[in-house]
Amino acid sequence: MTETFAEEVEHFFRGLPVILDAAGEDEIARARAWRKSLSDTGLAGFGIPTEYGGRLTPADGARQLQKLAQGRVPPEESTFGIGLHMAVPTLLQYGSEELKKRFIPAALSGEEIWCQLYSEPGAGSDLPSLSTRAVLDGDEWVVNGQKVWTSGAQHSDLGILLVRTGEEAGKSGITMMVMPMHQPGVEVRPLRQMTGDAEFNEVFFSDARVPRDWVVGEINDGWRAATQLLAHERTSLGAGSDDGVRKASGSAALPFHFLRSLAEQSDCREDIHIRQELARAYSGEMIMSWLTRRKTHPSIGKLWRTRQARHCASIVATMRPQLIAHEGSDEDLFWNYHFLNSPRMSLGGGTDEIQRNTLGERALGLPREPDPQAPVKSKD
Ligand SMILES: Cc1cc2nc3c(=O)[nH]c(=O)nc-3n(C[C@H](O)[C@H](O)[C@H](O)COP(=O)(O)OP(=O)(O)OC[C@H]3O[C@@H](n4cnc5c(N)ncnc54)[C@H](O)[C@@H]3O)c2cc1C
Repeated sequence: MTETFAEEVEHFFRGLPVILDAAGEDEIARARAWRKSLSDTGLAGFGIPTEYGGRLTPADGARQLQKLAQGRVPPEESTFGIGLHMAVPTLLQYGSEELKKRFIPAALSGEEIWCQLYSEPGAGSDLPSLSTRAVLDGDEWVVNGQKVWTSGAQHSDLGILLVRTGEEAGKSGITMMVMPMHQPGVEVRPLRQMTGDAEFNEVFFSDARVPRDWVVGEINDGWRAATQLLAHERTSLGAGSDDGVRKASGSAALPFHFLRSLAEQSDCREDIHIRQELARAYSGEMIMSWLTRRKTHPSIGKLWRTRQARHCASIVATMRPQLIAHEGSDEDLFWNYHFLNSPRMSLGGGTDEIQRNTLGERALGLPREPDPQAPVKSKD
């Protein structure tokens, strides 16, 4: 008898606890074990051609899997966010055949973890002013410069890197390439956040080497691929799945049902102000899921999820301000993390102001904002 898709998924999830237990306590070992087993079972990479390690049948496999896996995906899946939701789709669009075959299967199976090497101390919102430079030396690019706010660099094998290769300033002369992170020319230094965690890093390149062919798209014309990757990032950021488990990690907004149970425990349920805020949080959560399903402009979804994360955190602070001062219990740590972490969404993946500029200019067709670097026209 042939196994139905639902049975296949069920079989996989029944075997998963043994695989995760065998991987031990280490978060990255568990993450890799989860992805490898997903890929070995043929459940990784729906919609991606089989020659790159993906799977095309059943046609609605991704949607079915999402439904069947609801609440069962381990939190370690977030380790692969940049690889799966940003690097892979960009490689599919802009990578050579050789790069697709080299990188996509290993990203799907969790063998290689990715980070995003875009922001620099002098180039965040104004990314085209980046100055990390790559120069061709025989069969390799030699890279020098610095990146900052690189999430997950400390455990990444590869980085999707933007560098200047041409002499021009601005968007021309930028190239996208893949940086192998484990080499003497790459130094990763952690940056501590106000949550106490160090999820992101400074990354220094001193004569770091990249194989000549690991360029994604065209040399000096990486800006198109770069903006496409940002659109993928905005679509995926903070989407997070609610598996009902309280985790002091991730950037998704606090699910409504956690707030409701806190209100019940805190005897705030009858407070008219809290009730109003909870109703808004519930509506916000519904809007968030509808925006995801309707596939609206990525900046709309990102702005809404950011607003939802901040609003939910502020309700917690109103109901139980003492929870915000973390005193050591896991319960305190959970609320404390989400409160302190909520502002990050307004920055990571492009700030709120930049999302609004993008919507104004690209979606509404408003005039572009003045370029501060443009030469001033004389009045004569
Ligand atoms: C949690 C987190 C994770 C991150 N992970 C990564 C990562 O993995 N890889 C990576 O490359 N980067 C990462 N970043 C960096 C992120 O992309 C930048 O912080 C962001 O693009 C803003 O750049 P900046 O910090 O240099 O701020 P700036 O660009 O200096 O902005 C400062 C302020 O000025 C405003 N501003 C700037 N320009 C304009 C304008 N034209 N119009 C209106 N307002 C403007 C901004 O909105 C902001 O409020 C991460 C950031 C965070 C917070």
